[in-house]
Parts: sequence; C-alpha cells; structure tokens
Amino acid sequence: MSLARDDPRAGDHEHGSELSDTQLRVRALESVLVEKGYVDPAALDVLIETYETKVGPHNGACVVAKAWSDADFRRWLFTDSGEAIASLGFTGRQGENIVALENTPDVHNMVVCTLCSCYPWPVLGLPPVWYKSAPYRSRAVADPRGVLRDFGFELPTDTRIRVWDSTAEVRYLVVPMQPAGTDGWTEDELARLVTRDSMIGTGLPRRPEDVTR
Ligand code: FE
Repeated sequence: MSLARDDPRAGDHEHGSELSDTQLRVRALESVLVEKGYVDPAALDVLIETYETKVGPHNGACVVAKAWSDADFRRWLFTDSGEAIASLGFTGRQGENIVALENTPDVHNMVVCTLCSCYPWPVLGLPPVWYKSAPYRSRAVADPRGVLRDFGFELPTDTRIRVWDSTAEVRYLVVPMQPAGTDGWTEDELARLVTRDSMIGTGLPRRPEDVTR
C-alpha cells in the first residue's frame, strides 16, 4: 500500500477537461449553493484567498525558526504552545488549542487524525490530501516507521516514534530538530529549511546545502 502524495493531478482521467473529478465536483457543488443563495461567492473568494496566501505552512515555519533561534521562545512554546504561537499572530479557526511537540534524537513525533482530518490550520493551512486518506490514517498508527519509509526517510532504529492522534479540541505542531551547520542563521533563513511535512512529522527539514541563504 503506498500513500497518494499531494499531487494536484491525482485522480485525473482523460475526459477532455483540465479539471480533476474532485475539482469538477467542487465546482458543481459551488454553483448549486450559490444558485440557491446558501453561500456568497465573494465570501468564498475571501476564504480561499486567505488559505492560499495568508495561512499556510509558512506560518508554522516562522514558529519553528523562532524556536530554533530564541531559547526563551522555545521554552514558552513547549510550556504554553497556544500563547506562544498566538504571540506571533497565528490564531483562528481550527487552532484554538495547538500543542507543540519537540523532536529530539530520542523521540520523533508524528501527527495523524485517525478519525477524520483535524489539523492546526493557523500554522499549517489546510491539510494535504494524503493526510485525510484512509491509508495514512490507519497506517500512521499501525506502522509509523513504514509510513516514514514511504515518505522517503528512515530514522535511526533507537529513535522512538510517537504518534499523536489529533482531535477537534487538540491539534499538534511538530518542531523538528534544527539541522546541523545552521548556527548563526537568521530566523528568515532558518524558516526556509522548515517544510510542511517536517511539521507533521512525515518529513525532515531541508538540508542547509539545499537552500539559498
Ligand atoms: Fe479530525
């Protein structure tokens, strides 16, 4: 069983349209809801624009970069995650109670929502398709090491993997370990190392040699 990665082309068929089945279904649903007056297209545009440009993993990357470079903030983040994250301006729906999880050489944290797709929106934006998929939701618990292998990396055998099940009440943000060789980098530079998947626990930060400072 392999995981479907977040590929916008996934699910496409040859039916003469540029749009995927899901996109077509969303479009049809939107037309009906607008026609019946249930939703305001302008309000929908604002929501979509917000989650496309303002809210996304770049927010979480700021939190992680600050935790890497500011010891006081790091302590605060792991004692009162919600307050510390809100101090950077990241608040809002689906982020009422976010708990930051610290990766160490001994423990690697990985987040799932076995029930549905609970996710810390203010810091990561909307969840990727694979996060909501049944294979990820079941296998993350049963075989986390195998899932990480599917995502392309292997942890040392003596690193324990802790899987956290999100709920509507509590959502998690993984703080990956700071890559070696990045001492003295600014927060902006550090943030470029932080990937979305590294904050879900299904990935690692980029290597310093792979980003331009
Ligand atoms: Fe959920």
